[in-house]
Amino acid sequence: LFKKELGQHILKNPLIAQNIVEKVAAGLKCTDVVLEVGPGTGNLTTRILERAKKVVAVELDPRLAAELAKRVQGKPEQRRLDIMVGDVIKTDLPFFDVCISNTPYQISSPLIFKLLAHRPLFRCAVLMFQREFALRLIAKPGDDLYCRLSVNTQLYAKVDHIMKIGKNNFKPPPQVDSSVVRIEPRNPPPPIDFKEWDGLMRIVFVRKNKTLAANFKTTSVLDIIENNYKTFCSANEMMIESNFSIKEKVMSVLKSVGFADSRAAKLDVDDFLKHVHNFFW
Ligand code: SAM
Repeated sequence: LFKKELGQHILKNPLIAQNIVEKVAAGLKCTDVVLEVGPGTGNLTTRILERAKKVVAVELDPRLAAELAKRVQGKPEQRRLDIMVGDVIKTDLPFFDVCISNTPYQISSPLIFKLLAHRPLFRCAVLMFQREFALRLIAKPGDDLYCRLSVNTQLYAKVDHIMKIGKNNFKPPPQVDSSVVRIEPRNPPPPIDFKEWDGLMRIVFVRKNKTLAANFKTTSVLDIIENNYKTFCSANEMMIESNFSIKEKVMSVLKSVGFADSRAAKLDVDDFLKHVHNFFW
C-alpha cells in the first residue's frame, strides 16, 4: 500500500500527530500560511488546517494527494488547502510563514537547504527526521556527530531538538527512530558566499579531528587552491612571483588567523565566521 522508496511512513499515533501540531501551533498567528511537505493521507494537514489561515501541501504521490483532497472535499477547509502534486525539491515554492513536515528521509538534506534559501524567509519550521540526521543538525563542537551538515545548517538557522518519536508510531515502521526539530532562520542571514563557505567546510571537515594545517597540506587540496589562485590572478592581471609557493601562502593565512593548530571538530559557526573572509583572496 505505501511506497517505501518515497519514504511513506504514515504517523499512526494521533497523540503524536497532535503533539507535533501543538508545537507548530504555539508559534502560529491566525494570518499564517503553512507549507506542509509530504502530507501523505493528511494526518498533520487536517489538524494544521484548524489552526492556520491557509495550508499549501506539496505531495509527490498523486494517489495520496487525491486521498487528501477527498478528505476535505465539500468541507469549509477545502478553500484553505492548496495541494501541489510534485517533487518539493523541484517545485517553485509560494510564500509561507511556517513549514511543517514528517520528512521523507531521502530529501532531508536538500529540503533543509531549499527552505533556508527560500525568500522571503519563513519564520520557523518544525520538521521530523531520522534520529541521527536530527542529531547531526543540532550537534555542537566536540560532539561525535558534529559535521559539515551541522555548521552549514547552524550558519543559517537556530536548530533545537523538540521531541523524540519511536519507530513504532509509524505504519509501516521505519528502520530507525525519529526526532522532531525546530528550525528558525537567522534573519538577516550572514553575508556569506555559501559556495566559498562550503568549499572551506569541505576541506576542514574531511578529517575534522586533524588540525586545519594538516587538512590544507594534502596535495589534492593544495592543487585545487593553487588552480583557483592562478585563475584569480590572471583574471585580475596580477603577477605571480617565480618562487611563489601555495603551501607557504596557505600556511601563513592559517597562522595569521590563529587557525593552523585548530581542529574543525572544536570550532563553531562563529569561530569560522570571524575568520572566513581571510581564506578568500
Ligand atoms: N505527513 C504524513 C504523516 O505524517 O503521516 C506522511 C509522511 S511520510 C514520512 C512522507 C510523505 O512525503 C509521503 O506521503 C511521500 O509520498 C511524500 N514524499 C516523498 N518524497 C517527496 C518529495 N520529493 N516531494 C514531496 N513529497 C514527497
